[in-house]
Amino acid sequence: MSFFENKKLRIISLGGVEVNRNMDVYETEKDIIIVDCGIGFPSDDMPGIDVIIPDITYLKDKLNKIRGIFLTHGHQDHWGSLPYILPQLPNIPVYGTKLTLGLSKIKTDDANLKVDFREVDYKTVVRVGDFSVEFDHVNHSVPDSANLIIRTPAGTVYHGSDFKFDWTPVDGFRTEVQKIAKVGAEGVLLLLSDCLRVEKAGYTPSEMKVEETFDQEIQKCSGKFIVTVTSSSISRIQQAVNVALRYDRKIVFAGRSIEQNAEASIRLGFLKLPLNAIIRAEDINRYPKNKIMILATGAFGQDNSALDRMANGEHRTIKIEEGDFVTFSQDAIPGVENAVDDLINSLIKIGAEVFYSEILDDLHVSGHESRDGLKMMLAFVSPKYVMPIGGDLRMIKQYQKMAKTMGYEDEQIIIPHEGQILELENGKAKIVGKAEVKNIFVDGLGIGDVGNVVLRDRRTMSADGVVMVIVPMEKATGKIIGEVDIVSRGFVYMKESDELIGQAKKVVRDALAQHEGPMSDFRFFRRHITEHLEKFLFQATHRRPLILPVIVEV
Ligand SMILES: [Zn+2]
Repeated sequence: MSFFENKKLRIISLGGVEVNRNMDVYETEKDIIIVDCGIGFPSDDMPGIDVIIPDITYLKDKLNKIRGIFLTHGHQDHWGSLPYILPQLPNIPVYGTKLTLGLSKIKTDDANLKVDFREVDYKTVVRVGDFSVEFDHVNHSVPDSANLIIRTPAGTVYHGSDFKFDWTPVDGFRTEVQKIAKVGAEGVLLLLSDCLRVEKAGYTPSEMKVEETFDQEIQKCSGKFIVTVTSSSISRIQQAVNVALRYDRKIVFAGRSIEQNAEASIRLGFLKLPLNAIIRAEDINRYPKNKIMILATGAFGQDNSALDRMANGEHRTIKIEEGDFVTFSQDAIPGVENAVDDLINSLIKIGAEVFYSEILDDLHVSGHESRDGLKMMLAFVSPKYVMPIGGDLRMIKQYQKMAKTMGYEDEQIIIPHEGQILELENGKAKIVGKAEVKNIFVDGLGIGDVGNVVLRDRRTMSADGVVMVIVPMEKATGKIIGEVDIVSRGFVYMKESDELIGQAKKVVRDALAQHEGPMSDFRFFRRHITEHLEKFLFQATHRRPLILPVIVEV
């Protein structure tokens, strides 16, 4: 007898329980859909690691059940793993709204992946296998964000990814509360709800506030006005742009990711500005400095980001001088506080006037709803069960308390655990097991804004393809154990090259054997494997694919 008889639904989080790296599997007997495919960001103690990606081991023997990946919105912690995951899940369509797909496509194009993107609007219901999925527009710090109404044979689930209720959003398109209330009236079995800001009482203010703050500050600025944000914060970028236009300043996008995202958002109609307001960083000296606004990457203090290079006097064309204002329009996320502190200090040292949340209010408004707004969502949806997502354990705990104040009993509030398999059947929820979920670290694709090395990498990829080397590392000892695996895209047809791949695996094994002790230095590890494999592959094929070592903790 199959475990799915009697119309069961399973929900499994493959991303781990944390703010980032979102990826949830919805599974019935015949079908699977995946919601989001995000990256996680490493903490300070992982030098040389770019990102952490979800572990899809659970899906490996279920590939023919997967009907699609549904993306909720344009933040990388919700889609940034596509370039790593899609090569392992070929031919699976990716559904999302216009801007979400536009932003994702930048990175999948960079990785030379052909993706079956399927754009969805807010009126369409997507039916795939046992599931029907409706996109519910919500406000967040990136436009065109959605929660998902997922109807399944076991009942309806409201997947509340990152959201807030903003009655005066920058683009005028409010959270579709009427849809939420309607599905609530129909009856919802389970609500998955954002809980990131549950610790804050009240409602999150409207994004509009930030524009007023920019407007007040820019009037005091006699030099360049520099705003740093994450490159996907399109709503925030729009507000900075509005203020620049108001004071007749030209706009410079500094940093590859912000340039690319701005370009896509302008093309798709989500960022509105006259094209002649934009100038290139090279042309900055042709304008008086009080006629310049710079939108720069580096809000989290990332090494080698545009702002980091300016602070260290290493930026090719932009010099920070006395009188320049630098505004951090972003709160630091856990793990990057030290890097941000260092960056602020460096900027002050070279004469910039620096503004950040601790000294100036309303520089940043969260894209996440606070406690009373989260209560409102729970009240609208009125589910039988609720599971807080998108937060750390302490936020999950606070959400649990909040739900209890609204009359929810302990057994109605599901506490997520890494890999936990939640089963819904006959209107009841229970935990039935645990999928194995490991941390997978990736070093090398250069997420974010980095310099020439990555550009060279990208050119290499588009010409000669990519070879991913997957190396298992024992968590406790940091030692390499077990079989090395190699996956390639755009380099050789794997099926016809068993021999080549076999030899390549041996080259990697031999290279690793030369190194004793733990592999704690990921940069060294990467260089070491890359050097050996590059030499071998070039001799064998006269091609130089991009080599991407991936470490899997076991
Ligand atoms: Zn988000």
